[in-house]
Amino acid sequence: MEAAWLRTNTHPQAQDGYRAVKVRVPRGDLNPTQLRGLAALLREHTGDTLRILPDQALLIRWVPTDRLLAVRDALAALDLGLERAGGLGDTVTCPGADSCKLGITSPRSLARSIQPMLDTLARDPRLEALRIHVSGCPNSCAQHHIADIGFFGGGRRAGGAAAPHYMLMLGGLAGGTGAEQPGKAFGLPVMKIPASRVPEAISRIAQLFLAEGDGVTFGHFARRLGRAEFKAQLADLTELPPFEEAPEMYKEPGSDTLFAVNVGKGECAGEVVDQSDLLLAGADREADTALQLLEDGGDTGTIVAAANDAMLQAARAILATENVFEQRPDIVEREFRLRFYDVGRIFEGVGHYFFEARAEDAEDVAADRDRLRRLVVEAGLFVEEAHSLTLRLRGEAAFPRATPATKKALGDPGLIRTGSVS
Ligand code: SF4
Repeated sequence: MEAAWLRTNTHPQAQDGYRAVKVRVPRGDLNPTQLRGLAALLREHTGDTLRILPDQALLIRWVPTDRLLAVRDALAALDLGLERAGGLGDTVTCPGADSCKLGITSPRSLARSIQPMLDTLARDPRLEALRIHVSGCPNSCAQHHIADIGFFGGGRRAGGAAAPHYMLMLGGLAGGTGAEQPGKAFGLPVMKIPASRVPEAISRIAQLFLAEGDGVTFGHFARRLGRAEFKAQLADLTELPPFEEAPEMYKEPGSDTLFAVNVGKGECAGEVVDQSDLLLAGADREADTALQLLEDGGDTGTIVAAANDAMLQAARAILATENVFEQRPDIVEREFRLRFYDVGRIFEGVGHYFFEARAEDAEDVAADRDRLRRLVVEAGLFVEEAHSLTLRLRGEAAFPRATPATKKALGDPGLIRTGSVS
């Protein structure tokens, strides 16, 4: 146990005789007792400052090597002595829908529900360093795009009811976009999976890595295996049975509250909704085609056309929620700008993807590999936001938020989060 903690949570400093200690903070939550205990620990053992890391962990520098185990014991007394800081089981999560008004899903609920499974998988040393990051929406406050296994929240409908889903991204690297292969350091967008099937997806991905990883890093393995193969291996997990057959799939993992219900009456439940869903399904197909062609080295002109069509269909789907059924691209652009972009009903950055693509010359984009790759990624993000936005517009993405009173009732003495704040 001590040896594992020393291996996974401490790192040599440039100065002889000192190591830096990385402290695992489950879901980024710290209570006042832990904060006071950390202050006392620092005064006693290092006298130096505490750093908060981007992955929600803490870093204590200047720990003399002969005090490492004393520091570990002091951390354990504060419930902060867990191994594998930053590794498998130390899932990075944003607040998500628990408290963020932009959240679609609750990454913290998901992280709690998969914890036992991850702890079991992490017993295999080939898996213990895998990084899982989960965001509650495409905004990526949990940095899902640079995780080995990343997820961001969204929703899908079946038979009139909405279910929480997560978009799976695999093989992200923390080194940014990469000088040699621009854009390739972000995870590969693979597929959208119902939240309740995320544990099975992680389990299968881990088994694939064990069977075919051949000692390479997960990022290299993910690129070598490729998106198409991952999709084939996980295809059955995307199925969403009707609510009547599997009501548990319409709840957040670990929650008894329905993620969404079919409102069944009122202006959002009629033909308007069906038309919107139809367009979103078409947008999904086009975005998927663009991504697949890009990976397969397909015709660049066809890739541009598919990505642009995906965004156009997604914009039409959003307009359809307001009874605007328009096919002419210029009118779609104008109405989308007036009704959603200018008035701040869609995230500015994501909305901008649509206008930027509309303004560009298709041949110029097709000739520029970096821009082409970015266009395909942005088309996927725009389509995902269209799914989330239509759910919000129908009032179907709303579910209980954790209030201070709820936290008190749950015995939470007042949490402070590290990193990934909204
Ligand atoms: S914290 Fe960021 S990623 Fe998470 S739900 Fe809110 S906006 Fe989205």
